[in-house]
Amino acid sequence: MFAMENPGLIIYDQRMLLLDDKEEINYGNKYGYGQWYKVAGTICHEMAHQWFGNLITNKWWGDSWLHEGLANYFETLALAKAYPNEKDIIDLKVADITSQEIIFGDHSEEHPIVTKDGDFDKYTYNKGGAVLRQLEAVISPKVFQKSIQNYIKTFAYSNANTANFIQKIQDSVDEANLKDWCGEALNVSKFMDLWLNQKSIPELLTDYVNGSFSITQKVYNGNSPWPLPVFVQYENDKNDMVWLAPGYVCQDGRKLPATEILQTSQVFINRDLLSIARMEYSLTAVNAIYKALISNKNLQISPVSLKIFHDQIWKMGDYNEIFNHQKSAGILDVYINL
Ligand SMILES: [Zn+2]
Repeated sequence: MFAMENPGLIIYDQRMLLLDDKEEINYGNKYGYGQWYKVAGTICHEMAHQWFGNLITNKWWGDSWLHEGLANYFETLALAKAYPNEKDIIDLKVADITSQEIIFGDHSEEHPIVTKDGDFDKYTYNKGGAVLRQLEAVISPKVFQKSIQNYIKTFAYSNANTANFIQKIQDSVDEANLKDWCGEALNVSKFMDLWLNQKSIPELLTDYVNGSFSITQKVYNGNSPWPLPVFVQYENDKNDMVWLAPGYVCQDGRKLPATEILQTSQVFINRDLLSIARMEYSLTAVNAIYKALISNKNLQISPVSLKIFHDQIWKMGDYNEIFNHQKSAGILDVYINL
């Protein structure tokens, strides 16, 4: 154990608290910067537990994601607020971990985020944090913040479970009148159910035929399709969210398809790795996105989007040229050399 968040008394292993004063904290010094990041991140994580864990404690261990997923989410949020100049690097770290641990990597020990008696592993921490970031992107940072404030006010010095947490999100979602994949009132429990209670993640296949992108959700191993929000960035830097909820039946009887066709001006799919999905691209889709990226250097694509796209397509050919893309490239250079 590296640190423990007792109420009012956080205890650290000294490696998680002390920095070597002979090491400079800058990008040129990989060891010093890495040490700073680990210590600063751990301090923020334990501080977050003063609210999520101490002020509000779970009713039972099975909901341990409410402590660890929320601490994971707030750890990086607080770190980026405290060190705004490091925000891009922090975002890249989070996305890299999500990519390596949740999207790829070994899943032989995988379990749903909510379990019967609790687990303390990457699914509880990192996937827990990732579903919260995805939820925030769906309902907006403002509505998410309000939900969390209400959650804290309601359950301070008390106990809560996943249903209590979801209800608080629902209250703010209702107030904001948010809609779901059918255009009906968003039911947060229905949205979050499979993300929390079904293991694995969906696959998001992107194809490009006759000048249009299509996106398709595929699922394996007998899983039910997830209501998957897909975050898309247009060439003119506008963002959009498209739902893929295959098989979901709306009140008017419509059954939603597995594939949606996007407008041609949409160039980037799953920006900032906000959608929890394993991306697959056809060669024509890769080439279309690639072409848009290298021909439009002014596109404000984030370093996270650029890196994740590169990581997912590198196997299809030499696409290193996208790293020449505007300011993101500089941040990526720093990150890759850390
Ligand atoms: Zn923790």
